[in-house]
Amino acid sequence: MTHPTTPSSVFPKPDYGKTPTRKKEMPEGLWTKCPECSAYIFNKELESLQMVCKECGNHFSITAFQRLGHLLDEGSWEEYDADIAPIDVLKFTGASSYAEQLKKYQKKTGLKEGVVCGLGRLEDHPVSVAVMEFSFIGGSMGSVVGEKITRAIERATERRMPVLIFSASGGARMHEGMFSLMQMAKTSGALQRHAAARLPFISILTHPTMGGVTASFATLGDLIIAEPKAMIGFAGARVLKETTRQDLPKGFQTAEFLLERGLIDRIIPRPQMRAELGKLLDYLDRSFPLHHAVERNGRSGSHSGHTHRNGHEPVKAAGV
Ligand SMILES: [Zn+2]
Repeated sequence: MTHPTTPSSVFPKPDYGKTPTRKKEMPEGLWTKCPECSAYIFNKELESLQMVCKECGNHFSITAFQRLGHLLDEGSWEEYDADIAPIDVLKFTGASSYAEQLKKYQKKTGLKEGVVCGLGRLEDHPVSVAVMEFSFIGGSMGSVVGEKITRAIERATERRMPVLIFSASGGARMHEGMFSLMQMAKTSGALQRHAAARLPFISILTHPTMGGVTASFATLGDLIIAEPKAMIGFAGARVLKETTRQDLPKGFQTAEFLLERGLIDRIIPRPQMRAELGKLLDYLDRSFPLHHAVERNGRSGSHSGHTHRNGHEPVKAAGV
């Protein structure tokens, strides 16, 4: 069953026409081909550009931990709720059982669920952060994803911090039915309390942000930011087309389209995200003097119960 090989030392190499030889020139694992512009990019270079194509600006998808690495001040990250694991309440089975899927994705990602939450500093601003992991069942929001995001918001409220949530999700997790849908109300309720405490929420929409995530916390930001060309919407284009029986405008579910219509405040390319969020937090710091100024020179993260105020009187930030 083997193909006859041509001993090239004896016979001249036959002409196979346009045989693609590029693969041979590009040893696997060293280069990545951009799916948008077909450019080959040296992996190390791609990583140094935060997984953005230098030719066309295509934003490759990244893991939650890669994102946190791009974003936070070194050594400032402290993860919370990493051990909360989902359960298969409904004994849901589709093509494969939900329990099996959970196991598979837990193994694949090394995470218990599809969101990573914790406290850290961004350009020296203490922040509570939640980053959704799209590679965990499409970043879908089940009970634990909703719970962890809610806790990230409540942690921010309690400590008088801004909350940043990076969305990347296909929407609610159908395997958990109603329990999944309830997370929309729960996360929104927590944000309402955070807003009532006059604290900022910056929502960052990455590719893709859809369904129940768009329809709840992701679009409730005081500032809503997106990465370039991120797909953002509620229902998928096919469903919408079938339901409305109308031709949909070109690019109607992209960040650019939604920026023009005012749903999104800004589009920020990933390599500028950290610096720009830092500036926005500076501005917000002035308009909502946050308590954290008191802790600025102290330790980050761990909670003593005395390091924050429960009162409504925010402490004036130092140097403002
Ligand atoms: Zn490209």
